[in-house]
Amino acid sequence: MLTIRQVQSSVYGRKIYCYAGTALGYFNVRLFNAISEKQKVNSYDVDLFIYCTLDIMDEKSPKANEMYLGHLYNDQKYKSFGFISNTGIRMVLVLEAGCLSLKDQEIRGIFKKFHTQYCNAISNPFYKFGEEIQSKFLNGIKDKQLSVVTVSPQSVCSISVKRGIRPFEAAQLISSYFLSKGISYVLDSSFGRLFCLEAAFEEFQSNATRPLLVSACPGFICYAEKTHGKLLVPLLSRIRSPQAIQGAIVKDYLARKLDIPLSSIYHASVMPCFDKKLESSRSDFLVPGSEVRETDCVLSTVELDSVLNEVTQIVPSEADGWLGDFARGVLLGNPGGSSGGFAEDLVRRFIAIHGGEPVRKQIAKNIDVTEVFVDGTMRLSVARVYGFRNIQNMVRKLKIGKCNYDYVEVMACPSGCGNGGGQLRADTTDERNELLNKVENAYESLNGTTDSLSTVMTEWSLLNPDWKNFLYTQYRIVETNISQTLQW
Ligand code: SF4
Repeated sequence: MLTIRQVQSSVYGRKIYCYAGTALGYFNVRLFNAISEKQKVNSYDVDLFIYCTLDIMDEKSPKANEMYLGHLYNDQKYKSFGFISNTGIRMVLVLEAGCLSLKDQEIRGIFKKFHTQYCNAISNPFYKFGEEIQSKFLNGIKDKQLSVVTVSPQSVCSISVKRGIRPFEAAQLISSYFLSKGISYVLDSSFGRLFCLEAAFEEFQSNATRPLLVSACPGFICYAEKTHGKLLVPLLSRIRSPQAIQGAIVKDYLARKLDIPLSSIYHASVMPCFDKKLESSRSDFLVPGSEVRETDCVLSTVELDSVLNEVTQIVPSEADGWLGDFARGVLLGNPGGSSGGFAEDLVRRFIAIHGGEPVRKQIAKNIDVTEVFVDGTMRLSVARVYGFRNIQNMVRKLKIGKCNYDYVEVMACPSGCGNGGGQLRADTTDERNELLNKVENAYESLNGTTDSLSTVMTEWSLLNPDWKNFLYTQYRIVETNISQTLQW
């Protein structure tokens, strides 16, 4: 599904002016307005030009036999094109008169996207008629000193498979899109994952809770808090997700390092599922002592993919080290699958310290277990439990005290994050399975490395002695049965 920001970005990207009005008797109420930076000084002229165009639209639209009205009007400075929806919404596109670069087909494409956004907005039950449709993303980065987009490797792999290009090429395509929109840095969320994995092992060693349920999955967290709060919340690992750690890196570490006020920083992320939008809106992910969100906007893979055809050339990043790695196509990989590899990472670190041999078993579809034996004795039992059917089985076992793992990586999607709801889809089941296999293979091929982790950790600790607090979050039991909360 496209979003308003993508239409607006198309509009900005081509340095054009776009306007939509409603036909209400003699009134044309403005619903959405976007004007290029260059033309802002001429906004009065552009408005006058649009009013002239609307007169022509009124004459032309009753006779038109299709919704795209084509070229409407031009003067020495501007030319306009029109589209009228079957509910009477008028859309006007204004180009500089000398702009010859857009073909008729491209102009139709812009109107198509614009119309989709309009439909999405009015389908929103909270939308107030007459209000301008705003773009959270582009309004967000406007006038910001620092704007950062974090992209998940699952999104990169999904886009690379769909477009038949290699993951590093997909990363360069994605970063080119954002850099051309004025974004300062495009980052790999796997950099945040490196912090998660370090902190997760420390937590496992210092926390006696067994099994410890580790999940960067907002789908499972929501289920745990609302459905089995008393049982599951005490078992949840407090480690943040990579998205949430990236938010802290941008809004605390970079803010302090570059000495930029929070109000001048914008952070967006691209994630494989829509639940990440819910995660970013949790009150736990406000910068402490402020109302500023650590992640201001979350886009899904599908939303990002729909605008990538706008990229006409690869835009290089001027940033050094980890800040420019993604733009250079360096993607950090991890063993243990496309959901972040928490379980596999724990096994590796445990063996590095205590020795031992791992024995791996697939005990059901989307459940696998690794047991580590030291001198013939099982010292560690780690499971990956994916999908709600398996999660419900795990809950049943927990209730009767028969879930005997030390550590469980839990994910709501049956095949993990490579198969998230915001990823690109195929039509048939067979095609979907094939697509998922390709995405998993692409993820496994990621092998980039970074030597910036310890540098950032050291710098962050000097800038903020409490920096480690940003690696953790908290969960709470959510009462959903009203009768439990009533006082009689
Ligand atoms: S498992 Fe699915 S719902 Fe959970 S974080 Fe991954 S993509 Fe999102």
